Amino acid sequence: MSTLELKNVFKRYRVRGSGLRSHELIAVNDVSFTLESGKTVALVGQSGSGKSTIAKLLLQLEHPSEGTILLDGEPISRRGRGLRDYRNQVQMVFQDPFASLNPYHSVAHHLERPLKLHGRARSREDVDAGVARLLERVRLTPTDEFALKHPHELSGGQRQRVAIARALAPSPTMLIADEPVSMLDVSIRLGVLNLLAGLQREEDLGVLYITHDLATARHFSDEILVMYRGEIVERGPADEVILNPRHEYTKLLAAAAPNPELRLKQLSGA
Ligand code: ADP
Ligand code: MG
Repeated sequence: MSTLELKNVFKRYRVRGSGLRSHELIAVNDVSFTLESGKTVALVGQSGSGKSTIAKLLLQLEHPSEGTILLDGEPISRRGRGLRDYRNQVQMVFQDPFASLNPYHSVAHHLERPLKLHGRARSREDVDAGVARLLERVRLTPTDEFALKHPHELSGGQRQRVAIARALAPSPTMLIADEPVSMLDVSIRLGVLNLLAGLQREEDLGVLYITHDLATARHFSDEILVMYRGEIVERGPADEVILNPRHEYTKLLAAAAPNPELRLKQLSGA
């Protein structure tokens, strides 16, 4: 079993006010949690609460001001081979499937690069077979047709599936999904979330599902962390946090989504 852990992590930014003044903004304030392979943890909170900063810290796009991040109990390395290994193991699905794919490149091109980089495929046949397997895993079939398409020929949901396939290419153990469906049509959100849930089960992935939607957080996660102004103000098994919220902010969130079953029905287009 693999684990990815944040231990008392802080992230502070200096932000400039008017004139010469600057002040410190605490985007992440003493956050600790563990992501395990085969489990989904939802990180829930309103805009500006620090969710994406946590994603950036986990991807090493940013570094903690204080505190440590551990992979399988070892502090993560910031450079060299250790960093490359880490980047293979911890992959990301971004919010915007338009921005994350290159309009000039085919679907196959997007998937070949990581397959080659991570040394999983060398010969032409290996690469083609690898691309086909990835497309199958995200249910983009017939795979030979999808491989040749360009991003503009795909729907938002299909594009997000390509982004997921690309994230799977280096055989990660952890997937960080920052609002992976919030830019997609409501009617196809559930399909993409079901795909992620299936991958998590079949491939024993650990998933950090970042969202502001409590209904899907409850449905798709084992554990929910509620973030408010940089801090985790409430955490626990998904049902418990939703049915029995203790923190005022969670109560507000839960009240704003009074009927998760109905909300899921709406999402599935029923
Ligand atoms: P969320 O993803 O929950 O909407 P973010 O993690 O993006 O929140 O942002 C948390 C806070 O940190 C916000 O107040 C945001 O403006 C601030 N912030 C994020 N990145 C930076 C940065 N690079 N420089 C300064 N402030 C930042
Ligand atoms: Mg964000």
